[in-house]
Amino acid sequence: SVADTGAPTIFDKIIAKEIPSDIVYEDENVLAFRDINPQAPVHVLVIPKLRDGLTTLGNAEPRHVEVLGQLLHASKIVAEKEGILDGFRVVINNGVEACQSVYHLHLHVLGGRQMKWPPG
Ligand code: 5GP
Repeated sequence: SVADTGAPTIFDKIIAKEIPSDIVYEDENVLAFRDINPQAPVHVLVIPKLRDGLTTLGNAEPRHVEVLGQLLHASKIVAEKEGILDGFRVVINNGVEACQSVYHLHLHVLGGRQMKWPPG
């Protein structure tokens, strides 16, 4: 478990393409790339290119509403591109207790297998 220090994260290097990632979708505001440790046949992370204080969803402010909508919409585009529109899950882990490990807001888009509920 890791706490939110506000320090830059590995995702800055992925955005800058200083370290490689398998990009699924990209636009001006959002980057979507495959998780390095996939928990399902499809496991894509959707992140804002500009973190702007969004280390966690819990730090969201009114100025973030537009990008929050863009992230959700990009998740749908990812699901469509990956062929899982009929069944997929979008997850945000917030904070240590929820197992967040990277403090740059990210949506997990998961699918391609039967999902379980509750997730545990
Ligand atoms: P969290 O636990 O914070 O919700 O999710 C962070 C996710 O980022 C994890 O699923 C982890 O596998 C993924 N991740 C961490 N470092 C990297 C990396 O360097 N590249 C990619 N593609 N995924 C990463």
